[in-house]
Amino acid sequence: MPLSSTLTRIVLAARPQGEPTADNFRLEQVPMPSPGEGQVLLRNHYLSLDPYMRGRMNAGRSYAKPVEIGEVMDGGTVSEVIESRHPDLTPGDMVLAHGGWQTHAIADGRALKRKLDAGIAPLTTALGVYGMPGFTAYVGLHEIGKPQPGETVVVAAASGPVGATVGQIARLQGARTVGIAGGERKRAYLQDELGFDVVLDHRAPDFAAQLRAACPQGIDVYFENVGGAVFDAVLPLLNDFARIPVCGLVAHYNDRALPAGPDRLPMLLSHILTRHLTVRGFIQHDFIQLYPQFLREMGGWLQEGRIKYREDQVDGLENAPAALIGLLKGENFGKVVVKL
Ligand code: NAP
Repeated sequence: MPLSSTLTRIVLAARPQGEPTADNFRLEQVPMPSPGEGQVLLRNHYLSLDPYMRGRMNAGRSYAKPVEIGEVMDGGTVSEVIESRHPDLTPGDMVLAHGGWQTHAIADGRALKRKLDAGIAPLTTALGVYGMPGFTAYVGLHEIGKPQPGETVVVAAASGPVGATVGQIARLQGARTVGIAGGERKRAYLQDELGFDVVLDHRAPDFAAQLRAACPQGIDVYFENVGGAVFDAVLPLLNDFARIPVCGLVAHYNDRALPAGPDRLPMLLSHILTRHLTVRGFIQHDFIQLYPQFLREMGGWLQEGRIKYREDQVDGLENAPAALIGLLKGENFGKVVVKL
């Protein structure tokens, strides 16, 4: 197929105030770039949508540089090399890239994360269970949560790619798993198809009482993906020496200010002290040395059908903004992948 003279992309048009809106994004067409020495031109086939993208839309200090106004939105992609000026890459290679919200991208050949092999798992899993979110679940448990057989592991956002993988790995390690998700469809999937021991809906008015009843031996590992009311319900149930990998706080990503109410910081610190808690924030990249081990172990689990996953596919780049806005509110059901 002859190469088009333009590519389509979505840039950050304005920084959101609270929840993002369609006006924060702009769809544009720009001339197709050519690869320089050592570079490749990629055709992006699938774009990953992830909660971290909301953080990139803000100015200010974080663990990664913000997207500037007018810049292409950041994002992981499954991409095909269509032109190469790098000796190890040839047209037709499928690679995991950071191609962003656009149909084509230029990448430095050395920066491409890995060539993909559809024989191990479908290519889109490189954006989910067999990629960054799955790796996040793996290292958060391996390095911080360290669940032991018979212990109780609680995880929220449990139907997403991180939470669903956390629950299934913890179960493989002999732990009792309590998942938290929004709505009956997600609850039934986690319990019936993924084998969580108990699944609760965080929107239930008596959610805190339900969680207490579901954890009669207390909580040994709380894999923190959300914060908010879920963490409030978890805190009193934490056992001595419980571990809390702090992975994400999606309930707060659209916050514009601290919530009103009494200062609960002394109570939190007192729990950390008197219950000997380990609370450790992490970004998956902190443990990048475990990536080859993750690929081996997760590849085996996927091929043996011991870890399952679910994707929520969106068609067309133009629908990415609405899908990201929905993801932050729980409208997705599984890993969100945009087919470009
Ligand atoms: P995801 O679960 O597919 O999407 C986020 C989910 O959060 C929504 O589907 C929604 O599910 C839930 N949620 C939103 N608001 C909530 C609230 N107020 N209370 C409870 N649940 C709420 O996302 P993911 O990609 O697997 O990521 C999960 C978390 O891991 C995010 O916090 C993300 O930022 C974090 N993360 C961190 C790293 C790292 O390196 N530290 C890497 C990847 C991801 P429900 O319908 O169930 O409410």
